[in-house]
Amino acid sequence: MKKFSIGIDLGGTKILIALVNKETGDVIHYVKKKTKKDKGPQNIIRKMVSGIEELLEESKFKPEDIDSIGVGAAGQVDRENGIIIGAPNLDCYDLNIREHLTSHFNLPVYLGNDVEIAAMGEMKFGAAKGCDDFVCVFVGTGVGSSIVKDGKIIHGATGTAGEIGHMIVDLNGRQCACGAHGCLEAYASRSAIEKRIEGALRKGRHSAILDYIETGKSISSSMIQKSIEREDELVIQCVNEAAEYLSGGLASIINFINPKLIILGGGLIEAVDYFYKTTIKKARAKCLPVPATKIEFKKAQLGDYSGVIGAAFLE
Ligand SMILES: [Zn+2]
Repeated sequence: MKKFSIGIDLGGTKILIALVNKETGDVIHYVKKKTKKDKGPQNIIRKMVSGIEELLEESKFKPEDIDSIGVGAAGQVDRENGIIIGAPNLDCYDLNIREHLTSHFNLPVYLGNDVEIAAMGEMKFGAAKGCDDFVCVFVGTGVGSSIVKDGKIIHGATGTAGEIGHMIVDLNGRQCACGAHGCLEAYASRSAIEKRIEGALRKGRHSAILDYIETGKSISSSMIQKSIEREDELVIQCVNEAAEYLSGGLASIINFINPKLIILGGGLIEAVDYFYKTTIKKARAKCLPVPATKIEFKKAQLGDYSGVIGAAFLE
């Protein structure tokens, strides 16, 4: 096996393409492409192919020097056949990534989802290094997770295991994008906090966050953090509420799977330390007493790179 692979993180806003040294975890070179406007299968394939070509040219590597190409996509994937079944954020359905990339570069191409590659990256070179039994939970626009047991990602019968965002936490609760009611994602994601804050502002509540909000733009994790630093009552209240729900979800994971370690990552966790600390304290208090004494929590360490590094290890 050659030690260099190309890892690709295909997200809703950007494609990150990296040349990874699998022995050291180093990202030798990377190329970033925006996916904001021109989405759809043709555009996505075109950007991936030109991105890989740029990467090879700029790094002076040839396809012969590369072991494989691994792609993690934000959506539902058919790993066996290398097909993106559905990625609503990329406007891609039934897209055969393997066929397209193999015909261009004549290399083995492997496909996974965005959360599993991030968990894989953390396991190889990040917060879970040396641990083969853990759960990664990422909180940002949505809430996603990946379960690792004996060093392997658990995919489940239909490849959708780990969808903690759609764990139902309120039977008569808020409508989720998936169609169900009361999913964790509708309470504990950055977008859920955003909706709560906007709702309160519409009702006339005052908040320091008004100093940062720009029309037409969403409330970012860093705006939430800045408002907490100013001890803003409304934002703290909404973040506490999200932490209450997320900690309930984590306590359920701890009781159900009994992992050694839970890694928390994603934009909201990275930017808002108060949210991370409140959530893990509450999760420990809510789960059963024996696992509560043993469970370890860590923040993800590789940030934006976890996905590309993990994707390089797909097989
Ligand atoms: Zn849902």
